[in-house]
Amino acid sequence: MQAYIEEVFNSIQGEGIHAGTRQVFVRFQQCQLHCLYCDTPRSRTVTGSCRIEKKSGTGEFHTIKNPVSRDLLIKAIEELWSPSTKHISLTGGEPLIHADFIREMDIEHPLYLETNSGLPDEARKIKDIIAIASCDIKLPEHNPACHYEELLKNELETIAILNESAETFVKIVILPETTKSSLTSAINGIASIDPCIPLILQPVTSVNRVPAARLFELMDFAAEKLKDVRVIPQTHKMLGLL
Ligand code: SF4
Repeated sequence: MQAYIEEVFNSIQGEGIHAGTRQVFVRFQQCQLHCLYCDTPRSRTVTGSCRIEKKSGTGEFHTIKNPVSRDLLIKAIEELWSPSTKHISLTGGEPLIHADFIREMDIEHPLYLETNSGLPDEARKIKDIIAIASCDIKLPEHNPACHYEELLKNELETIAILNESAETFVKIVILPETTKSSLTSAINGIASIDPCIPLILQPVTSVNRVPAARLFELMDFAAEKLKDVRVIPQTHKMLGLL
């Protein structure tokens, strides 16, 4: 089996409750959404080549042909593994588009899934092999899809599926224009699944910063329904990492 992959490299997870953890990142190509803040636009479409980091943490790459076979990917992951590396981050793009391939990877290292949560049927295929699930919920102002209500319903279904067996948390990108009103449906949805699921509010990395007062206001609002609400920015961007 083969998959279209943008890049494979070793770096430090910069988002969510495992920020600071060393991981091998497998960034898959293709995504069904079109968020306006997307910071990996290259990975949203299929290309004929995949970048593989030459040596762990060097940021130097060589290129191989797409699609990439399971055996070539496993070899690249093992060569990039290091003593402090903890997980394989399956990211994108949208990794759940490649659920069948992920199922066939059959690798010992723990799998950390970073998903936009929009594909519950695909999540169901691999829920039992995912150790940690970082699940996005998109907001209407992200302009992620034509039918926002349908996307939100799918996102909540995916979170419920993954939360059955994986350590699961939810991440929501906060824009300067985000308000309590635009967060309400997402917060109610998470609370209806499990109010103990951690919610990370991630201020968008941009020249237009989200005011601190807004972050405090949104944290308090979310905490009326959820037990663990945190603000964590993209820390890898501070370090200039991939
Ligand atoms: S889901 Fe992720 S990869 Fe897809 S458009 Fe949104 S930010 Fe980009």
